[in-house]
Parts: sequence; structure tokens; C-alpha cells
Amino acid sequence: MKIILIKYGELTTKSGNRNIFINCLYNNIKNALASYNVKIIKNRVRMFIEVEDNIDEIVSILQNIFGIHSIVIATRVNTNTKEIEENALNIASQIDFKTFKVETERADKNFKIPSMEFSRQIGSLILKNIPNITVDVHHPEYLLKIEIREDYTYIYHKEIPALGGYPVGVAGKGLLMLSGGIDSPVAGYLAMKRGIKIECIYFESPPHTSEMAKSKVKKLVRELTKYEPIITLHIVKFTDIQEAIYKNIDSTYMITIMRRMMYRIASKIMENNSCLCLINGESVGQVASQTLTSMHVINSVTNYPVIRPVACLDKLEIINIAKKIGTYDISILPYEDCCTIFLPKHPVINPSIDKAVLYEQSFDYKNLIADAINTIQTIKIRYKENNFDI
Ligand code: ATP
Ligand code: MG
Repeated sequence: MKIILIKYGELTTKSGNRNIFINCLYNNIKNALASYNVKIIKNRVRMFIEVEDNIDEIVSILQNIFGIHSIVIATRVNTNTKEIEENALNIASQIDFKTFKVETERADKNFKIPSMEFSRQIGSLILKNIPNITVDVHHPEYLLKIEIREDYTYIYHKEIPALGGYPVGVAGKGLLMLSGGIDSPVAGYLAMKRGIKIECIYFESPPHTSEMAKSKVKKLVRELTKYEPIITLHIVKFTDIQEAIYKNIDSTYMITIMRRMMYRIASKIMENNSCLCLINGESVGQVASQTLTSMHVINSVTNYPVIRPVACLDKLEIINIAKKIGTYDISILPYEDCCTIFLPKHPVINPSIDKAVLYEQSFDYKNLIADAINTIQTIKIRYKENNFDI
């Protein structure tokens, strides 16, 4: 029998909230492993998962769950010397190392061999059977731990690092503005890492934007379901608003007004879906609409906190994260975004709120926003779902 031992991430430092954190992590793990035959046992310091088979798959799923600091696989055997020896040797021969040390903890004092002696016994068995390795008691590459208990003995494999962070959901829910670009999926990932459960909102402008562009966004959402197994995506028809902006607004303010409309619609969706913050991929100075002045003018239409996880990262840093989390290759697919289609040549870099408000009086945006909200399409995308490939 294999046991997976889960070491908690940062949550152990938050003693007041510990139970909430542990329960949230427990539920997330339970949901993520719903299709596997496992038993999960939690306590204040660790979680244990009893696993019958598919251990590699299960470990790779756990490696994407926030709130886990590291994962240790243990083999559970009967407390008898022969069985422990056989399994310890078998485990050690599957792991790649040059130096090692055996450490025994003997909780069951009925087991007659003292810990130090037993460690030496197992150590020399391993030395005899695996070539080109030595014992290093101070800095071993591989620490083989044996825990002898009354019922069973546990032999630990190597520790596998996980993502850390907080369990998704523990901080409440946020709405991620997800375009098909590189930045917003990374922003979503980083928000989830801080324990924010996400829903996504995508603004499309058919026929100016294609079905392919929408599929790309769905694919990005699916990639993010590695960290949150079911994600809700709200798709907003933005064509009428965008065309009205194009017709009525001075070209220098088109992007500013367009983004204010997006924020207004997003705020309504947040209100309807109990989201506590807006999340997006804005990065300070990246484009005209992302100067601090622009952000201020755009931000002023909402009372919700706007979290911009990549605000202070360089583009290269963002790209590196996108590659690590698997969204980069999808993001660079060539399908157009609704912003790029109506992109003016000279967007204002330092807009003013007064001017934005004045321009907005030139068309009936409130009705257009109400229509857009009434025709929202909401779908749920699930982990490994595969019915919208592009
Ligand atoms: P990204 O790489 O995420 O597309 P970007 O650098 O292209 O970002 P903008 O196009 O100015 O920047 O958009 C800034 C942010 O606004 C995006 O990161 C995203 O969060 C949001 N956004 C832009 N377009 C859309 C859209 N069509 N639907 C939803 N959100 C959008
Ligand atoms: Mg973009």
C-alpha cells in the first residue's frame, strides 16, 4: 500500500485560520481526486492519502494544487524486518542518488532492534546492493526515512516539491478578465496561488472576432483548470458597445472608454456572482491604457478592488511563468482580440476622468450594457474537457 504524505504550505504560519485552510485544501484535494480510489486523512500538521494505484497520475495532480508545500510518497508495510528490508531496498533502487542516509524512528518499542542499529542494518543492505553510492550522514542527497509504528511501518521516498501558496477558495472569489493574450492567464494563475477562486469573463465582438479566438480563450480556461477543477466562463457580446464607441468617441479616447465599459460590465457580473475582486493582466506602462493615469481613469467606474498580479513584472518574467504553466503556446496562437481590431493609432496616454465622462454622454451606453449583461453566455469548463479544440 502506498501512502502520500502532504506537507502544508504557508498555511501553517496562519495559526488562527489553520482549520479553514486545512478544510479548504482537503476539499480541493478530494475534488481533484474524485475519480480515483483514495482515502484522505487530515490532521493539523499533515494530510495522508492512501492510494491503491495510479500513483504517478495522482502525484502530478497534487503538484498543481495550491497550499501544498511538498509531497512525500511512503510505502506502508507490516512491521517485520524482512518486509521492511525488501521494501527499503526496492524503494532505494528506484531513486537516483549518490549519497544517502537511513533514519529510523521507532514509535513501537516492541520492535526489538534499536533505531540506530536498524538504520545501520538497512544502510549496509543498500550499500551492498546498489553500486557507486556512499553514506553521508550530514548532507545526504537521499534521506531514507523509516517510521516503525505498532500497526504498520512507513518507508518514505524522496520529497517532491509542490507549488506552495494558499488553497484556492480560501480568499474568496474573484473575476478574471481573460483575453487571449499572454498576460491575463498568468494573472489568473497568480491570483489562484494566493487562494482566490476565479471565474472568468471574456468580451467578444463577433463578427470582428472569430470563433477561433473564443476557442482559444476556452482552451486557456481549460489550462487553468489544472489549479481549480471547474471554472466558470462568462462570455459577453461586446460588438454593439464597441461599434458605438467606434462611431461616437474621439479616437484617442476609444480604448479608455472601451475599458471603462468592460469594467462596468465586469462589476455587474461580480455583483451577481459574489466575486470580491476584479483580476486582470494589466502591467504598468506596457501600453497606453496601462499608464497609471489611464488605470486611474478606467478604475474609477468600479468600487471593487482590482488586483493586477503582473502589474510590476517585466514582459519576460510574465512569459516565463506562462511557459511554466502551459498557457504560452495557446496565447501566441494568432487569433485576434477585440481590442486589437479597433485599435486607434494614437490612444491617449494621460486621459482625464472629466473628458471620459463627457465623451460617454454621446451614446446610450447604459442600455447597451444592460443588453450585453442580459445576453451573457455562461459555461463551465472542466479539467481535461476536450470538446472545443482549435
Ligand atoms: P493580455 O496579454 O492578457 O491580452 P495585453 O497586454 O494584451 O494583455 P490589453 O489588451 O491592454 O493588454 O488588456 C489588458 C487586460 O485587460 C488583459 O490582460 C485582460 O485582463 C483584459 N482584457 C483585454 N481584452 C479583453 C477581452 N477581450 N476580454 C476579457 N478581458 C480582456
Ligand atoms: Mg490583449
